[in-house]
Amino acid sequence: MARAVRDAGLDSEQCYRVRDLSLYKEDIRLYFNDGYLIFSKPVAGERIAAVFTADVEGGDGEILLFPPQRGERQSLARFTGSPNLDEHFQAAVMMFTDSSARDLLENIEKQGSGRKVPEMAPLLSEQWTPVVSNILDSFAPRIAGDLLSPGRTDGLLFAALGGKKLGNFDVVYDPKAPEQILAGQLMERNQRVTYDIWTSFVARRFRTAAATPSEPGFKMTKFRIEASLDETLRLRAVTRATVQIGSLPLRAFAFEISRAEQVTAARIDGAPAELLTRESARSRALRADENEVFLVTSPDLLAPGSVHQMEFEHEGDLITSPGNGVYAVGARANWYPRSGPAFANYELVFRYPKRLTLVTAGDIVADRTEGDWRFTERRTPAPIRVAGFNLGDYEKSSSTAAGLTVDVFGNRRLDPALQPPPKTTTITEVLPQNPRAPRRDQVTTIVQNVPPPDPLARLNAVATDVSACFQYFSVLFGPPALKTLTVSPIPGTFGQGFPGLVYLSTLSYLAPQERPAAARSATLQTFFSDLMVAHEVAHQWWGNVVSGKSYQDDWLLEALAHYSALLWIEKKKGSRALEDVMADFQADLLKAGEDGQSVESAGPVTWGYRLEAAKSSEAFRAITYEKGAWILHMLRKRLGNDRFLKVLADLRRQYEFRAVSTADFLDLIKKSLPPGVTPESMDTFFDNWVYSTGIPTIRVRYSVKGKVAPWKISGTLEQSAVDKNFSVDIPVEIQFAKGASQTVWVRTSSEPTGFSATLKQPPLRVSVPAGSGVLAVRK
Ligand SMILES: [Zn+2]
Repeated sequence: MARAVRDAGLDSEQCYRVRDLSLYKEDIRLYFNDGYLIFSKPVAGERIAAVFTADVEGGDGEILLFPPQRGERQSLARFTGSPNLDEHFQAAVMMFTDSSARDLLENIEKQGSGRKVPEMAPLLSEQWTPVVSNILDSFAPRIAGDLLSPGRTDGLLFAALGGKKLGNFDVVYDPKAPEQILAGQLMERNQRVTYDIWTSFVARRFRTAAATPSEPGFKMTKFRIEASLDETLRLRAVTRATVQIGSLPLRAFAFEISRAEQVTAARIDGAPAELLTRESARSRALRADENEVFLVTSPDLLAPGSVHQMEFEHEGDLITSPGNGVYAVGARANWYPRSGPAFANYELVFRYPKRLTLVTAGDIVADRTEGDWRFTERRTPAPIRVAGFNLGDYEKSSSTAAGLTVDVFGNRRLDPALQPPPKTTTITEVLPQNPRAPRRDQVTTIVQNVPPPDPLARLNAVATDVSACFQYFSVLFGPPALKTLTVSPIPGTFGQGFPGLVYLSTLSYLAPQERPAAARSATLQTFFSDLMVAHEVAHQWWGNVVSGKSYQDDWLLEALAHYSALLWIEKKKGSRALEDVMADFQADLLKAGEDGQSVESAGPVTWGYRLEAAKSSEAFRAITYEKGAWILHMLRKRLGNDRFLKVLADLRRQYEFRAVSTADFLDLIKKSLPPGVTPESMDTFFDNWVYSTGIPTIRVRYSVKGKVAPWKISGTLEQSAVDKNFSVDIPVEIQFAKGASQTVWVRTSSEPTGFSATLKQPPLRVSVPAGSGVLAVRK
């Protein structure tokens, strides 16, 4: 089927001169005003591609696409200079498994918008067949999968357009995607191929509740992975998964796996199944990750609701080493075949050289050594989202308290990247001493090796900290899904929190003064010593007990992990420590990016990975993590500490082992509002802070009336530097010489907002003080 797809070729019997032909697909409008249109030969009875070229006198094609939301129009404008896509094109290569081919042919026949020109076919074929084959080849698993699925209504339309102003770009309608409409462009930026998503949104028929998005065709409920690492640490594994078919019969199954691996065999219920692996840079870039999609096809159609055992044999060199006996696992999340994020139970069996220690999630079922090999078998006591592992030559520090066990592993030897460069000292001696002789200086260079930092300096400190914050979060958010948490090192400056397994930067294990010079600012020391550790521990709840519904909700889990870490820092070091970090975050967000605009203005927090295409390279990190943490900080100030923590506990309880969306989170907040805070004000809060951009500048002016009690103050709060519809609740604090201060909440708008208060004693100061918990520049 895949070969037939790739070799489909163009059909001289279906070559037309077209005029005023159009194709409407939900929000996408394609007009083939004047030119040639040639279809591919049929595959499994369906025409899967067509080429339009405007290569005639006065030839023209045009596309119209109007994003329905303001944020999406802003995004489109950022990339194309216009909030709506209205572009003339010279050529269009289309690929479809929906009704588009039939619709076009019917239109030609019924409206008379085309006449057959078979004489043009040889020329068009010669010119376009390689392009069409290339695109078909890159989508072969998807097209073959669709053609093999009877009763499907979720076919794809993909159009690569040669725009007259915008160059080559793509427009996609894919009912299988959570956002079915997408327009974007493959770009090379800083020698890296990226995919710029100009706009991406829910298609018309799904917006109007008339249709529900297609469900996944199947789900994976249980895994057993038997993996072996040989002397060279090459991984060979057999993964067995329990697969349940959805509401339609199914033959073709798409899975993802790291590009570092090959899948060599697949079986369904013990019988060999056909395997197809093929992907292009474009379809990979569209998914923005490092995986391959492969397809497994069953000889027979599998019945709706039926349960099957799938087996995969796969292998690859996933383990890398920066040297000195330090190791890293590449493709940490995709070392076995997966299909979308879903909670499942796992049995994990590893065989590996006994000189190393392998760590993974789950309770120990067996652990033994035979000759030079060590065997370990684990079973997860609760469903997990993804299973990870790590290995190395480790030292261990363990502790158990209140039923929770923490095992922290550190490398015995130093990650070579952390070895400081040798110290070079130059001594210049002026020779000879006689001033009348010609001068020749003697330069001596002394190279001194700097002793390596101790890679285990903070092993016990990390273990103590992890154990304490693991306990603290259990009290705040309820017990974790897995009662044992393993922490292991990873070369680089990042961390990652898998269920039951945390990867922690090797920098976090070093004494602060021995970290590389570039990591020695106060902010980065806090990051490596405190913030990263607690952030990854918090992912045991945010991400691993509660997951995100789509990429637009990923910010919430990162923000929750980040802010939970800040709650821990506040608990350990006091509220001033938290405020210092928040002030750093604010400064990061206000910094000018490469385009001269503030980093924060690159896009709303809900854009997730799409922010990586922003002109500012800091945008994704600063907006997702730091603005995300600010959003939660402001909610905490508005709700009060107790109500805020209750929302987090409710979130964990109500969404345990499920996915949450930003809108679900807003609904939960609305159920815990303090008196005087309306649900509508929370909608406004989310509109301003979550779904759009902007950090206001605010200024308080006030005057006091009266010489004796009661004193009356009246003032205004001015807002600038944001859109005119930006509005935010600001706590204006009235301080007195004695006693507690008083807070008046004032909602800003484009015009100065007035406020007043009657006081029993004269005010000392009326202001929005530092630490008031509002992301704003105070003037
Ligand atoms: Zn994170």
